[in-house]
Amino acid sequence: MENIKSLSSFDQEIFDLIEKETKRQEDEIELIASENYASPAVLEAMASSLNNKYSEGYPGKRYYGGNAIIDDVETLAIERLKKLFGAEHANVQALSGSPANAAVYMAFLEPGDKVLGLKLDHGGHLSHGHSVNFSGRLYNFVQYEVAENGVIDMEKVREVALKEKPKMIVAGFSAYSRDLDWKKFKEIADEVGAYTFADIAHIAGLIAGGCLSSPVPYFDVVSSTTHKTLRGPRGAFILCKEQFAKQIDRAIFPGMQGGPHDHITAAKAVAFKEALQPEFKIYCQQIIKNAKTMAEKFMELGYEIVSGGTDNHLMVIDLRNKNISGLEAEKALEKIGVSVSRSTIPNDPAPPMRPSGVRIGTPAITTRGFEEQEVLMATEFIDLALRNKDDEKVLSEIKEKIKELCSKFPIYKK
Ligand SMILES: *Cc1c(COP(=O)(O)O)cnc(C)c1O
Repeated sequence: MENIKSLSSFDQEIFDLIEKETKRQEDEIELIASENYASPAVLEAMASSLNNKYSEGYPGKRYYGGNAIIDDVETLAIERLKKLFGAEHANVQALSGSPANAAVYMAFLEPGDKVLGLKLDHGGHLSHGHSVNFSGRLYNFVQYEVAENGVIDMEKVREVALKEKPKMIVAGFSAYSRDLDWKKFKEIADEVGAYTFADIAHIAGLIAGGCLSSPVPYFDVVSSTTHKTLRGPRGAFILCKEQFAKQIDRAIFPGMQGGPHDHITAAKAVAFKEALQPEFKIYCQQIIKNAKTMAEKFMELGYEIVSGGTDNHLMVIDLRNKNISGLEAEKALEKIGVSVSRSTIPNDPAPPMRPSGVRIGTPAITTRGFEEQEVLMATEFIDLALRNKDDEKVLSEIKEKIKELCSKFPIYKK
């Protein structure tokens, strides 16, 4: 390996692209609700020799030799995760959110079984039964919706559940800005004899930080990503009641996956340790303060927020009254160095590639240190850009100001 010691000496092209991307992240405002900046400690664990190991199986029961140290790593990750959420059982091998959900369905359902999930354009996720996704092709998903005011009406959920009698009810979403009544979901599920499955991919960090209510005490099974509000490596986990532990573990391996990504398991353990620190609670509180500040400012500026505000880290802006589509907004903001994701709004009249809204979230900017004052500045920049979306000169002036603001809040370049 003499001449492939370092990236910069062996592969200048990839090295330069990584440098460029790091600089882009430093210079621009990241408002994609599912993104965050992992700590140097998390990145270090990911870039370690643990990448090299094969460990099919679980601690103490591996199909390969040489796993004593990996067993300790995975056990630490599991113990920290159980502590973080007060869970009975944890599986930390899921490779990402969608595969974790596939394993959950596999553990509890047969193909063709009926599952109740939130409609995608109302804030659900592809893996909750969309027709183009494996979930929608393998299982019989029926959908509940948000009410006219953009909030989930639990009585309506109950009505659909009583009518459809699903085998499983899924709650937990990608573009829903309100806290959830987990207990009520569980009561409804009990009434119809359904399993309860919470997908907390977006909000896991906020639940861990004590800022949102947790489904863990009530639900049979809970899945999450580790790279969104939880601020860890790209990956996922599954929590469940002890009675379902075996079927969940078997669904992940050998059901769905081969060898776990041990370097990612180590990085997950680091992220869980970070989330167990008292500072993480403060971080979560600030994410929500920032989101509320932003939502209020947008409303003051005449923007419509779906459901009228936010309880968590994100909001969906309905841009119809501003005569700009979600796609146009996303493109205009890209020109000023602000990343957002276009998003459908409930009952969107526009097609999915050109939806009527954008989804905006505050986890990443909060990680780099933005507080209310910077959030207000960012919101004003966004409004100015959307009002001048075709004026390249104004847009490039805003881009410079954003770069200057960002330079005061370095991510990695301390
Ligand atoms: C992000 C997300 C996922 C998928 O996670 P990936 O890691 O992108 O596969 C699943 N469910 C919900 C609710 C999500 O927001």
